[in-house]
Amino acid sequence: MHRSRRTKILATLGPASSTKEQISELFEAGADVFRINMSHSSHDVLNTLVETIRAVEKEHNSPIGILADLQGPKLRLGEFADDAVTVEAGDQITLDLKKMPGTKNRVELPHPEILDALEVGHRVLVDDGKVELKIVKETKTSAVAEVVSGTKLSSRKGVSLPDTELGTGSLTEKDYKDLDAAIAANVDWIAVSFVQRPEDVAEVRKIAKGRAGVLAKIEKPQAVAKIDDIIELSDAIMVARGDLGVEMPIEQVPGIQKQITRACRKAGKPVVVATQMLESMISSPTPTRAEVSDVGTAVFEGADAIMLSAESAVGDYTNEAVGMMDKIAHQIERDPNYPPIIAAQRAEPEPTGADAISLAARQIAETLNLSAIVCYTGSGTTGLRAARERPPMPILALSPVVKTARRLAIVWGVQCVITEDASDLDDMVDRACRIAAEQKLARPGDRVIISAGVPLGTPGATNMLRIAFVGSDGQSGV
Ligand code: PEP
Repeated sequence: MHRSRRTKILATLGPASSTKEQISELFEAGADVFRINMSHSSHDVLNTLVETIRAVEKEHNSPIGILADLQGPKLRLGEFADDAVTVEAGDQITLDLKKMPGTKNRVELPHPEILDALEVGHRVLVDDGKVELKIVKETKTSAVAEVVSGTKLSSRKGVSLPDTELGTGSLTEKDYKDLDAAIAANVDWIAVSFVQRPEDVAEVRKIAKGRAGVLAKIEKPQAVAKIDDIIELSDAIMVARGDLGVEMPIEQVPGIQKQITRACRKAGKPVVVATQMLESMISSPTPTRAEVSDVGTAVFEGADAIMLSAESAVGDYTNEAVGMMDKIAHQIERDPNYPPIIAAQRAEPEPTGADAISLAARQIAETLNLSAIVCYTGSGTTGLRAARERPPMPILALSPVVKTARRLAIVWGVQCVITEDASDLDDMVDRACRIAAEQKLARPGDRVIISAGVPLGTPGATNMLRIAFVGSDGQSGV
């Protein structure tokens, strides 16, 4: 399916978007990648959703990306005898491992690894930061915390630890099982939640073995502090602003979003901006002006993708939310300020053949006002490096590898078509021109630039550029 929008849209699936009709409508409204949240999906649901998305993909004859988002450690308080206690600043409460109903003076924190890692001065944020505790005394198995702010502690509320690096990795038993199920279901991307350090990403890479791309969700200050190393080890990044805004001062989130987006663009790794983008559309047919502006900011920054969570998973206006993102992104991408802003953040090429060719392709296409950049890509690397150039014309990636085509669905500006490797140079040019015309990226008489590797079909061998006319039959003309 032809889309002229460069910024991609991720839509989270859920009860409001799980039938074939609903998923098909979301795709038609503009969703490029579907996110399956493993916090809320059994393996049966995962498998059914993957099957359904693949059926939609087949019907539309267009590669669709699937991202399985691992839950990560969900840290929670234990139970209180009366379900909740009221607290005020200055109160002290002991956190321990005793399986006994809690009181105003003590409550279970059923995570030995946390109690082991807490230090005096560390903050413990309860219920998305509504209560802030500060540790004033600690042993290996308990800690005394002073209430800094907040009024009520309730049973099983979530706990965030902005200052504490846990000795354990970010994967739980459930995550390991979900990861295996997601790989077996043939998803394209695995999202790793609550990454603290590069090793957390390395662990998932070791298991995924290239069968799915690994996307690191940045939602902890520890990850922000090591962002360059995490980007290097990851195939993609998500700015997970929900938890990030709890674990870090909320006013720092816009700056961090910009910093991460720029670092990812420099590295040529896809970056997704997520959470509360059109939050009010969960229950309203139109977004707030501030939400529209938020989506606009991510698009102006050149983020690869923007994401919907509850808006598309449980909202009353799922298609409208995707359609609204589509409209905003289109409008921003046509804004006269968009090209110069995008170009200002363009990264210098690295000393590789793929970057030299991608830079040259973009410059030639700009100089000659060509309609599209067509690149043959097996692993997807050439497609990614072409996107890193953020060219003003569409990028058509041609790949014989279905997995590559699906994975590239998340990448800025890349439209991917599955096609066999060309048999010779004439076939390479004819095929590129024909598909560019079929995809409505070029019309007869237009010219495109084609990058490929000779010998044809050799991975990592992108080494040639060819300018070609699209003929009246869609094939290459003279
Ligand atoms: C987030 O916190 O912004 C996020 C995307 O993660 P999740 O929805 O899994 O909490």
